[in-house]
Amino acid sequence: MTYDFDLIVIGGGSGGVRGARMAAAKGAKVALIEGDRMGGTCVIRGCVPKKLLSFAAHGFDDVHHLAGYGYKIDPPKFDWSVLIAAKDQEINRLEGGYDTLLERANVTVFRGWAHFSTPHHVQVGEKTLSAERFLIASGGQANVPDIPGKEYFLTSNEVFDLPTLPPRIAVYGGGYIAVEFAGIFSGLGADTTLIYRGDKPLRGFDEGVRAHFYKELEKKPLHLAMERSIAKIEGSPAGSKTLIFQDDSTLEVDMVMAATGRSPLTRDLNLANIGVETRANGAIKVDAFSQTSQPHIYAVGDVTDRMALTPVAINEAMAFVDTLYGANPRQQSYSNIATAVFSNPEICTLGLTEQQARAQYPRGRIYTATFRAMRHVLPKVEEKTFMKILVEDGGDRVVGVHVVGLHAAEVIQGFAVAMNAGATKAQFDATVGIHPTSAEELVTMREPSQTWGN
Ligand code: NDP
Repeated sequence: MTYDFDLIVIGGGSGGVRGARMAAAKGAKVALIEGDRMGGTCVIRGCVPKKLLSFAAHGFDDVHHLAGYGYKIDPPKFDWSVLIAAKDQEINRLEGGYDTLLERANVTVFRGWAHFSTPHHVQVGEKTLSAERFLIASGGQANVPDIPGKEYFLTSNEVFDLPTLPPRIAVYGGGYIAVEFAGIFSGLGADTTLIYRGDKPLRGFDEGVRAHFYKELEKKPLHLAMERSIAKIEGSPAGSKTLIFQDDSTLEVDMVMAATGRSPLTRDLNLANIGVETRANGAIKVDAFSQTSQPHIYAVGDVTDRMALTPVAINEAMAFVDTLYGANPRQQSYSNIATAVFSNPEICTLGLTEQQARAQYPRGRIYTATFRAMRHVLPKVEEKTFMKILVEDGGDRVVGVHVVGLHAAEVIQGFAVAMNAGATKAQFDATVGIHPTSAEELVTMREPSQTWGN
C-alpha cells in the first residue's frame, strides 16, 4: 500500500509543529493540517499573549514601587490599543516563524479542518490525503457554562483582541486562566471581580499555597466573589451585562469572561467511525507511547487531556518521533513537571502538594518561609512571598517545592532539575545560597515547621 505521506499531523500548535518538523528531519514525508492560525493555543491565544499582557499588568505597581526608590513620576496613563497592537505584532512574528520552520523542514502544509474518511485518509476541504501514520494534536477549546445568556460570555479566544479595555469586568472560574486574567484586568486598571463557585481559587494546588495566595489576592484592587455561581446573564451585546447569581444577587459589568475549563477538540475529526476511542469529554485515549486504539494513529497535547501544558505537548511529540522515526522508543515522564500560574502574585509549583506527599509517604517534613521580598522593602509593599518544601523522611528526598511571589517560575526552574536528579534535603542544605535573593531561602530553610508520621 502506498500513501501520499508517511505522516500527517493534524494541528499546527506546539505539539503538532514540533512533531511534524522532527519527523521530517528524520527523513519522513510529512504533511500538517491546520484550520486556524499557525501556532495554536499557546502562541495565538494562550501562554504567549497572556504573558505579554501580564508583564503589562505590572506597570502601575512598578511605577508605584519606583517612588520608594526615589523616582517622581506623573500618574502614568495606560493605552490598551497600544499594548494590543504591540502584542499583535509579536504574535504575527511568531506565527510567521512557525510557517518558516515548517517550510524549511519540508513539511507540506494544508489549510483547513481535517476529517477522517477512513483510518488512513483525511479530507481537508476538497482534498483527500492518505498517510501511513497520523499524529493528532488538535488541542482544546474553551468551555462556557450552559446557562441562560451564555452568549454574553467571552473567553480567552476573544479577550486578547478587545478594541478597548472594558471598565467593569467579571472573570468566572477559579483555575489558571481565571486567576491570571483577574490579575491582568485589575492590574491594568479595570474594576475587576473574580467569581468562583468554591471557597478559594486553584483547587488541587497545595493548600498552603492556596491559603497564602488568597490572602494576597485580598490585598489587591480586586473584588472577590467566592462561593458564587452565575445562574443567568441579561444584557445586550454592546451594552452592560447583569449577572444574576444563584442566590438572586446581581452584579452589573461591561464584560464577563468565562474561564471555566477547556475541552479537547475532537468533534469534527470523525474518530468514532475510524476506531479511535475517546473519553466522555472528547479526549483521545492513548497509551504511554501516545498510541490510540488505532495502532497507526497517535495523539499528543491537550487533545489527550493528560497535562495541558505546552512543554508537555512538545515533549510528547518528541517522544513520538523518537519512538517511531528515531529507533529510540521512549515515553514522556509526567513526574516533577513544574507549572506556573502567572497570576499576581505569581505561583510556581513543582512535584507533590502537601496533601499528596502525606498520602504517598508515611513520614515527612514540611519547611515553610513567609517573608517580604527585598525589592518590596523600600516601597513598603505589603505583599509576602511564600515558600514551601516537602521532604519524605525515608530517603530525605525533596518531593515538593512551591513558591508564591516575585519571579516564582524563574526561581523554581533550576530546582526542577535538582528534583529530577533525586536531590535530598541534605543536598539543598549543602548548597550555598545566592545573596541577597528570594531564591536563597529555598536552600536555607533549616527547621521544619511541621512533620507528619513521626
Ligand atoms: P481549569 O480546569 O484550571 O479551571 C477551571 C475552573 O473553572 C475551575 O475553577 C472550576 O471550578 C471552574 N468551573 C468549571 N466548570 C464550571 C462551571 N460550569 N461553572 C462554574 N465554574 C466552573 O481551567 P482553565 O480554563 O483555567 O485552564 C485550562 C487548562 O489550561 C489548565 O488546567 C492548565 O492545564 C492550562 N493552562 C496553563 C497555564 C499555565 O501553565 N500558566 C495557563 C492557562 C491554562 P472547580 O475548581 O470547582 O472545578
